[in-house]
Amino acid sequence: MSSAHRFATQAIHAGAAPDPATGARATPIYFTNGFVFDSTEQAADIFAMRRTGFSYSRGSNPTVAALERRVAALEGAKAAVAVSSGQSAVLLVLMTLMRSGEAYVASPRLFGGSLGLMRRLDGRYDLKPQFAAGLDPADFEAAITPETRAIVCESIVNPCATVVDIAGIAEVARRHGLPLVVDSTLASPALIRPIEHGADIVIHSTSKFLGGSGQTIGGMICDAGRFDWTRPGRYNLLNEPWPDYDGLVVTERFPDFPFAVACRLFGLRDLGPGLSPMNAFLTLTGIETLPLRMARHCANARAVAAHLKDHPAVEWVSYPGLPGQPGEELANRYVPQGPGSIFTFALKGGEPAALRFIAALELVSHLVNIGEIKSLAIHPATTTHRQLRPEERAAAMVGPETVRLSIGLENVEDILADIDQALAQAA
Ligand SMILES: *Cc1c(COP(=O)(O)O)cnc(C)c1O
Repeated sequence: MSSAHRFATQAIHAGAAPDPATGARATPIYFTNGFVFDSTEQAADIFAMRRTGFSYSRGSNPTVAALERRVAALEGAKAAVAVSSGQSAVLLVLMTLMRSGEAYVASPRLFGGSLGLMRRLDGRYDLKPQFAAGLDPADFEAAITPETRAIVCESIVNPCATVVDIAGIAEVARRHGLPLVVDSTLASPALIRPIEHGADIVIHSTSKFLGGSGQTIGGMICDAGRFDWTRPGRYNLLNEPWPDYDGLVVTERFPDFPFAVACRLFGLRDLGPGLSPMNAFLTLTGIETLPLRMARHCANARAVAAHLKDHPAVEWVSYPGLPGQPGEELANRYVPQGPGSIFTFALKGGEPAALRFIAALELVSHLVNIGEIKSLAIHPATTTHRQLRPEERAAAMVGPETVRLSIGLENVEDILADIDQALAQAA
C-alpha cells in the first residue's frame, strides 16, 4: 500500500489488503487467542522478540494489527499500538515514559478522565503532573524542572474546543530534550496530524471520531519514531537492557519505533489492556468514512455554534472556529475546516437552566460519549468533570453553567430546531 496515496484513500486502504488465505476483501475478524507456532525455535524467538509474529492476542492479533497500521498511516507515525480504551492509552504512555518520582508537564485543560487519572497516579505511584499555568508555549516551558520527562497536551481540548499551539509547544519540548505527547482524540487525523507539527507520541480514544458510531471503546498510541530516547538515567524501558528478554535493548533492536515496542512489551504483555479483534474491525470500518464524516461534523457544529452565539438565552459559546472568539487565530491556523464538533456553551440562567435545557432535548441524546454520528449533550460539572477539584474544573473551563455539545451528522435544521425548543423550555 503506497504511502503516496492521499488521505481519503489511505482511510479506506492503508494497513489492510485482501485476505491472502481466502481473498476476503473486508479485513477478517481473527477471533482466536493463540496462533500455532511452526516450530519450537520460532516460538522461542517470538517470545524473546528475536523475530516478529503472532503468538497470543493480548499482545497482537492480525485484525488489530490492520487497525494499528491504518491509524499509523493516517497520523504519519512509524507504528501504533491499539489498546482497550483511550484511558488505557493515556495510562500506558505515562507508565512507559516514567518511573516513580519522575514528572511531566501537563496542559491545565484536559479531558476530565485524564485529569482524574493523573491525580490518582500522582497519589499512588508518584508520577507527578506539573500543570502549566496556561496554554501558551511559555507556560509549558515555565513548568519544566529537572524531574520532567515529557510534555502532555491535547490538540483540540475536550470539552471547550480550544485549539492548542502544538508547534509552539513542540519547539519548547525540543529545546529541553523532552518528548511531546498529544492526545488528538477531538481532532482525529482528518483535522490535525500532530506529528506534522512536531509531536513525538499521539494518543487517540478510538471510541470517538475514529470508530464514529458510538459502538466500541478503544484507544491507540502512535509513535512518530523521531525522539532520541538514549539519554542515560531516564526512559529506562527504552534504553536499558531487559534482563528477562536476554538483555534486549529496545532502542537498539527497534530503532524505527522503540516507543511503540516498549508500550507493547510493558503495556500489553505485562499490564494487559489489549483491544478485541471485533472492536478493531468495527473501528477499521468506521475509519473508512472518517474524512467525509469530519467535514460534515465541522459544518454542522459551526452552524450550531453560530446560532447559539446569537441566541438571547445564551451567555457565551466556546467555539474558536467563529470570528471574534478567543483562540480564533490558532483555530484558523491549525484547523481551517473547523475545530471539530465538540464545544461548550453557557446559558444565562446558570446551572438550573443548563440542567433544564439538557432534560428538554429530544433529538439530541443526553449521554457521555462524544464524536459520534448522533448529536449528544452533557452537563460536565456534575458528570465528566465531577471528580475534579473546583480549581481544576475552572482551569478546564467547566463551570456549573456549562453545557457540552457533540454535534452529529443529522440534518442541521433538525438539530437547531431541537436546541431551540429546549432553550425555550430552559428559559
Ligand atoms: C474520551 C477521551 C479519552 C478516554 O477515552 P475512552 O476511550 O473513553 O477510555 C481520552 N482523551 C480524550 C481527549 C477523550 O475525549
